[in-house]
Amino acid sequence: MGIIVQKFGGTSVATAEKIHRAAKKVVAAKQAGHKVVVVVSAMGHTTDELIALAKNVWGTAAGQPPKREMDQLLATGEQVTIALIAMALAAQGHEAISFTGGQIGLITDAFHSKARIQALDTKKIVNELDKGKIVIVAGFQGVTESGDVTTLGRGGSNASLVALGAVLKADVCENFTDVDGIYTADPRIVPDARLIKEISYDEMMELSSVGASVLQTRAVEFAKKYNVPIHVRNSQHDGPGTMITAETKAMEHIVVSGCALKKDLTRVTLKHVPDQPGVVAQIFSVVGEANIVVDDIIQNTMEDGTANVSFTVEHGDVADLKIVVDKKLKELGGGSAIYDANLAKVSVVGVGMKQSTGVATKMFGALAREKVNIQNISTSEIRISCIIAKADAEKALKAVHAAFDLGKA
Ligand code: ADP
Ligand code: ASP
Ligand code: MG
Repeated sequence: MGIIVQKFGGTSVATAEKIHRAAKKVVAAKQAGHKVVVVVSAMGHTTDELIALAKNVWGTAAGQPPKREMDQLLATGEQVTIALIAMALAAQGHEAISFTGGQIGLITDAFHSKARIQALDTKKIVNELDKGKIVIVAGFQGVTESGDVTTLGRGGSNASLVALGAVLKADVCENFTDVDGIYTADPRIVPDARLIKEISYDEMMELSSVGASVLQTRAVEFAKKYNVPIHVRNSQHDGPGTMITAETKAMEHIVVSGCALKKDLTRVTLKHVPDQPGVVAQIFSVVGEANIVVDDIIQNTMEDGTANVSFTVEHGDVADLKIVVDKKLKELGGGSAIYDANLAKVSVVGVGMKQSTGVATKMFGALAREKVNIQNISTSEIRISCIIAKADAEKALKAVHAAFDLGKA
């Protein structure tokens, strides 16, 4: 039997008792004959608490705390968990050794807070596995070539899991979390959401990018690229879970496989920018250089020869965005920026949409019946998304979920 990589998210290692329960899952895989590598997140809400602490210390100073120091701080969360899970395994009578990202040579670029993995040295891990040890790795973190600590973006332990799975050529990556697998909608919002047996990389990527935060979008993208299957399972009990794999013929018959809600969206409207060739290109190029993902772009031409350009970004990117946008508007000689955080996006996703018609009509109809106003629509080959008011968010998700009969039979 080959290597298996298991990841335990924050809630699955939130207490000493849960750490022991996670350790039991690890031991079971070892006893089944696998070589086991374990990736862990920070305990419970540690990452959020560390961010709050940094904000307190930073106080009313202008701008943001230095990003290098933010990463230095946030990476400590995962470092606590690796030691504790190694201890729990030792207490249960199994040899384990823990490593930080830096210790296993997980090299990233220098984009602090959203670093991308560039290289990962397997020597140390394989060496310890060959000695019969369980290897524990801190998720969410790496180091730059010059040794600075970096983090991989929120939910980044998923990326660590998949990267390890890919370089170690693992049989499977097991993502242990606090729900039974991937559901047709967030089961915390839609109680009758149904557990999905298997879902394609593309659908999961779309769902993650529009709000299914159970997996980080980038991690799924990586899993697809290297063809690493991800098995999403509950860390607290056994069950079939969900397999995320390459698309199969059978999947094509499912028109809509799931829906999702994104509530951490801010719409930015740049008012009265010059309506000339190259202006939009300049704006989006500085935003892109700041590593900020934009969506839902709309441009309206005004009568005075200017234009209003609006787009959405995640709340977490607004502080960085303000800096680049203000600078660019000054260079362009005018315009102003307005930020609206009272938005949400509801989406439906399914590979079968490629061959099917009427999906949009059904979705818009469901929203209309609930008197939810659609502010903007965007689509991909396998997704339809509507921007709506945040106040309507959960009502809209439930309505769409019901309209496509996604609930339990
Ligand atoms: P972890 O700490 O294990 O990384 P997360 O909190 O990041 O866990 O992700 C798990 C959560 O994702 C679930 O508790 C659930 O509320 C949410 N979620 C959102 N959409 C879905 C979905 N379609 N299927 C399953 N969980 C979902
Ligand atoms: N602890 C980090 C976060 O909360 C990484 C992770 O959980 O995947 O985002
Ligand atoms: Mg997570």
